[in-house]
Amino acid sequence: MDNRSFVTANDTAVFVRELDRPYPLIVRGEGVWLYDASGHAYLDAVSGGAMVTSFGHGTVPSIMEAIRNQTEEISFLYNVHATTPPQEKLARELTSVAPEGFTRAHFVSGGTEANELALRMVRSYHVDRGDTGRHLVVSPAQSYHGASIATFGLTGRPGLQAPFEPYIQQQPHIPPSTWLFDTTGESALKELDTILERVGDRVAAFLIEPVSAASLPGYTPPEAFWRGLEERRRKHGFLVWFDEVVTGMGRTGTWFAAEQMPLMPDVITTAKGLGAGFFPVGAMLVQERVYQAVAEGSRSFEPGHTWDGAPVSCAVGSAVIAHLKQERLIDSVAQRGPWLLGELQRSLEGCELVREVRGRGFLLGVSYVDPVDGSSLLDPSLRVARRIDEAALEESLLVYSTQPTNDGFAGDQTLLAPAFTASDSELEQLVERLTRAVQQVEHHVKGELASAAR
Ligand code: PMP
Repeated sequence: MDNRSFVTANDTAVFVRELDRPYPLIVRGEGVWLYDASGHAYLDAVSGGAMVTSFGHGTVPSIMEAIRNQTEEISFLYNVHATTPPQEKLARELTSVAPEGFTRAHFVSGGTEANELALRMVRSYHVDRGDTGRHLVVSPAQSYHGASIATFGLTGRPGLQAPFEPYIQQQPHIPPSTWLFDTTGESALKELDTILERVGDRVAAFLIEPVSAASLPGYTPPEAFWRGLEERRRKHGFLVWFDEVVTGMGRTGTWFAAEQMPLMPDVITTAKGLGAGFFPVGAMLVQERVYQAVAEGSRSFEPGHTWDGAPVSCAVGSAVIAHLKQERLIDSVAQRGPWLLGELQRSLEGCELVREVRGRGFLLGVSYVDPVDGSSLLDPSLRVARRIDEAALEESLLVYSTQPTNDGFAGDQTLLAPAFTASDSELEQLVERLTRAVQQVEHHVKGELASAAR
């Protein structure tokens, strides 16, 4: 590549994630721009690579001030012994921007921790009410809920699970209602019914990303699925838990994506945008009736992590909420999201590699198929998702594509989740660069498929 800085596995003491991949050495960020050690600029289309930096890179003075002020007051205290004003304040603020009925928040450091905690919560809810047999969590197979062993069990992706199989507790999964399997949601509901007939009295919760992130970028189940899920919740008594680790804090154009769904969850987990990249902080929020189960039951919800509700993390969460409100950034995402989706759809319209461009707010996804028939998934050996990321990097664009995971529920896809603060012209550049990357990969893949067919 042209004048750029990279680090490879051979010249680092870091135990890198992929040993055959050169990593750009990024020294500075400003807005949606990342600069490497040679001064080369990359357009960051995924908010710090992981849907985190909603305000882009660089300082937000009020957040820096909140960190400094809180550190001067008290920077750390374990919340098993005492509470602090920032924890109290963030709990009040977060429950007030959450959908109606969410009255309690418990803070953690990230998405995996929030989901681990919620896993214990949905179990405790039933146990504290005397329904001790419920311990299973049903969820759509193509999902991601974290990198701990328990949350791997919730993802239902054999590709991710296989290496850790002996440790993972198997949880029931249903297929996602995508164009590939189930456009109406009826098949997913049928599968759910089969599970409920078999083990309904042992199901503690149904877990779902209301708008999916990396596993099925920008995907939401059809309306009929949500209505059917509501009926089954009433009939079978399980809780509905939304993983809003990515969608929470405005990413889809409302504080929580739950506001846009036809059914209200009982439990919400959130993380990434709550700290916006300034500090690790996540949360589990519960409806009053879930809290009441513990209040009227064991009256204890132990144990917790050392950093749960730490003063500086909570101070950052509050400063993030204040900044979102002050700059009206969620309104901006709600207004510009449909335009961005339209631009992306128009720009990729002629690409035979592209099957679907979807999403809400600033959480968008592109899914790819075999250009020969326009519907079958591409052979994993073609490495299309990886090649999209590489071609995008050549265009100095950072996107996040997922590979097929041998589970057959999804093929190659690209996730886009730009900073809420990206300007219209930066978003236009994002669309142009991604289109060029897709066109380039499509050209090569078509050539390879044609010569393989000969
Ligand atoms: N849930 C979802 C939907 C996610 O996208 C992620 C992270 N990509 C997680 C949970 C796990 O969050 P973390 O990496 O902060 O532990």
